[in-house]
Amino acid sequence: MLRLEKTIPARRHVVEFTWVTRFHPFGAYSSARKRMNLSVQADCFWCGSAFKDDDTTMLAGRAKGKNVLLCEKCADRAASGEGTAL
Ligand SMILES: [Zn+2]
Repeated sequence: MLRLEKTIPARRHVVEFTWVTRFHPFGAYSSARKRMNLSVQADCFWCGSAFKDDDTTMLAGRAKGKNVLLCEKCADRAASGEGTAL
């Protein structure tokens, strides 16, 4: 059998944000969105952890794409310049 093999470096996913701001507690955000029949982002855009009703959500504007919700931990990491992969 003939074979070629090489190691491919792990892919790095980078998303750039132009701003991030403190937003509503998740419970208030989700009930308002449901009242208006709008979709609800139920977990952090970056780490995927599910929001609980009293969690503060952070609204972040992506350089490319729609605004997203981040958890406070991910927003802090991005703002502090430590926004490396988990
Ligand atoms: Zn997160």
